[in-house]
Amino acid sequence: MKNKILKYEKSRQRMVQEQLIPRGIADQRVLDVMSRVPRHIFIEDALAPQAYGDFALPISEGQTISQPYIVALMTQALKLNEDDNVLEIGTGCGYQTVILAELCRKVYTVERLKPLHIQARKNFDKLGCFNIIYKIDDGTVGWPEYQPFTRIIVTAAGPRIPEALVAQLADPGIMVIPVGDRNVQDLVAVEKTAGRIEETVIEKVRFVSLIGSQGWSG
Ligand code: SAH
Repeated sequence: MKNKILKYEKSRQRMVQEQLIPRGIADQRVLDVMSRVPRHIFIEDALAPQAYGDFALPISEGQTISQPYIVALMTQALKLNEDDNVLEIGTGCGYQTVILAELCRKVYTVERLKPLHIQARKNFDKLGCFNIIYKIDDGTVGWPEYQPFTRIIVTAAGPRIPEALVAQLADPGIMVIPVGDRNVQDLVAVEKTAGRIEETVIEKVRFVSLIGSQGWSG
């Protein structure tokens, strides 16, 4: 098991040098963690040699693990501090979750599909990540028991920003979320400061659908 985790060191460095730095990922802590976390263990063995390519890959249940650059871009936009508690909606295979967990105090992650939730938990165990709390649920309503969250990240795209998530964002706090139609979305940074909400569009993106009571209906 250990040997498998250690594989692809060169591919990981190349990913950072060729895909992240040239496109403007400048936060050294984000670059360091992306160069460390073994992305290949999050996907099926047959796809492992492609794990560090410049594209999204299928996981299961028709979902995808985001392109490395998008993971880095969203993480950088969150401006994480060591004492942040982060709510993540859309655990998927858990790759983004682990990247976050390395940079903050605690990650609360919600996934609506049980097979992916189970897969992600196995990955957290393999890597010995103990600051991740997870559940199967509709994440568009947030996670009321643990609010407020100093950071929120949504890794699936809905038609609008769920009100529950804005309500559960701490002040000050930052949320990063793709919003738009089914095919193309704006990646939006939502900053809450002194009771005010400011939205900034970061980039055009293409995510799988956020399905739930404050997302798409199916
Ligand atoms: N960050 C993930 C991306 C997975 S794709 C990764 O790195 O693998 C987005 C995920 O969001 C899918 O697994 C999908 O099932 C999940 N999702 C969609 N709508 C959701 C909702 N309302 N609540 C929780 N998860 C949701």
